[in-house]
Amino acid sequence: MGSTGCRHCASSVETNIQRNGALHYGMIALTLDDMSENLKPSETVLRSVDPVTGSQVAEFPVTTADQVAEAVGNARRAATAWAALSVDERRTELLRFKRLIHARRNEILALLTRENGKVAADAEIELTLTLHHLDWAARHAGRVLRPRGVRSGLMMLNQASRIERKPYGVVGVIGPWNYPMYTPMGSIAYALAAGNAVVFKPSEFTSAIGQWLADTFVAATGRDGLFAVVHGWGATGADLCRSGVDKLAFTGSAPTGRKVMAACAETLTPVLMELGGKDAAIVAADADVRQAAQALLWGATMNSGQSCAGVERVYVVEAVASRFLDAIAAAAGSVEAGRDYGPVTMPGQIATIARHIDSGLSDGGSALVGGRDSVRAPFVDPVVLVDVPQSSAAVREETFGPVVTVNRVPDVDAAIAAANAVEYGLGAVVFSKRDGESIAARLDVGMVSINDVISYGAVPALPFGGNGGSGFGRIHGEPGLLEFTTPKAVTRRRFRLPVEVSAHGRRRRDEWALTAISRLVGRR
Ligand code: NAD
Repeated sequence: MGSTGCRHCASSVETNIQRNGALHYGMIALTLDDMSENLKPSETVLRSVDPVTGSQVAEFPVTTADQVAEAVGNARRAATAWAALSVDERRTELLRFKRLIHARRNEILALLTRENGKVAADAEIELTLTLHHLDWAARHAGRVLRPRGVRSGLMMLNQASRIERKPYGVVGVIGPWNYPMYTPMGSIAYALAAGNAVVFKPSEFTSAIGQWLADTFVAATGRDGLFAVVHGWGATGADLCRSGVDKLAFTGSAPTGRKVMAACAETLTPVLMELGGKDAAIVAADADVRQAAQALLWGATMNSGQSCAGVERVYVVEAVASRFLDAIAAAAGSVEAGRDYGPVTMPGQIATIARHIDSGLSDGGSALVGGRDSVRAPFVDPVVLVDVPQSSAAVREETFGPVVTVNRVPDVDAAIAAANAVEYGLGAVVFSKRDGESIAARLDVGMVSINDVISYGAVPALPFGGNGGSGFGRIHGEPGLLEFTTPKAVTRRRFRLPVEVSAHGRRRRDEWALTAISRLVGRR
């Protein structure tokens, strides 16, 4: 299978794009029911569809377990040559990859709209973020991963000591569909830059985008097998977990993350878990209320609310609550699904969104903007629910739709306690002119943006990831490069000490010196 996955299908995708200047494949009309049928893991062919029209975008044979193993074997061979390159050579090839993505931007932008449902602005954001991160990983890997000398300490005074960073070998990447390019590339680009090969299983909803990435890599570098794609549903992901990869980077929901960890535990394969979120925003009394309302509405609805770090809960202090509610209602009035953001990509998610709106209302909340009628599959217009009890599913579970709850709280302390009272700990937002830093410090999350939303995701030098139910490990930035390497400790004896420590048959004075060192270290 190698890096080409379904080469036949992929090349027909490309040809169609180039021939027509727009994405146009064999137009097979599928209803939403057909799309649910498409989830059947017993199928041997995977079809991805346009979430708005239901027309087929591409189809790929499902990769068998043997083919997954073959792809990993090929990747292992390719990894040896890749890891042997100098840092500069790898950087040159990765920047070539980046430039080819840029040169083919119209193809991928069209595919992000056609297969993933993104409106043009959301597709452009995803592409730009991806290019930014690929560029950063390529340019900074050498500096971040170079061997680092460390002090050897009193007992090993005669040793030169250093930490080296070694690539794992083959990294398996399992990705979601909500950011089908930006999110997996947060692992792929950093793993490659660190000297690994990658075998990637894209989401079954966005296989063509995954294939496009691997094909573009091969076209840019001429390296077959180093970045391979395998296609299928969860079973293919499970095959990848058990295929002998040296590390597994998973991005997806917490329930699937648990299954991935269990499968990887069988072979002690280390895992990186980028899971879901239920991000909270705090609006303090000294916030710029209008700016907060506009930014938080965008954070809740962009990409149809299908963002792991999207804003799903707002806690606003009583003193500014009515002004904030007026402002967010006014902002939402001019936002419309289908124009400002796209459809709900995964048909099954519609039921979760509807259930959360229902439970938010039946548990005692009220609808400030929209309501149950806002769900008009595959689109969902903005919904703002007010004063929903903390125990409601609408406040506790990940909705993954353009729905946000706004709860009034007496003060910032109550807002922080409520924000921290869910199992997730991915990102958070604080709006406060004076106290942003001190509020941010008390939030149990992996990422916080102060007086803006989700800005950390666009800063390549910053790590991305969460705590608790949102997973562990980090992509992006220095931690993202370190994540795809193992530390190797090296010591080199430089000279003979008058006192011989690492040998049998020590003399009395050696033992005396050892005790003296021990006392010295213990006392200071
Ligand atoms: P999902 O968990 O349903 O699927 C994710 C991937 O796992 C898919 O490729 C799927 O085929 C695969 N998979 C399913 N069952 C598997 C199994 N048993 N073994 C191995 N692989 C299996 O998630 P999704 O619906 O694609 O994505 C949405 C979720 O991803 C949301 O919870 C969202 O918050 C999360 N997400 C997190 C981040 C982050 O960085 N923390 C980023 C984007 C999305």
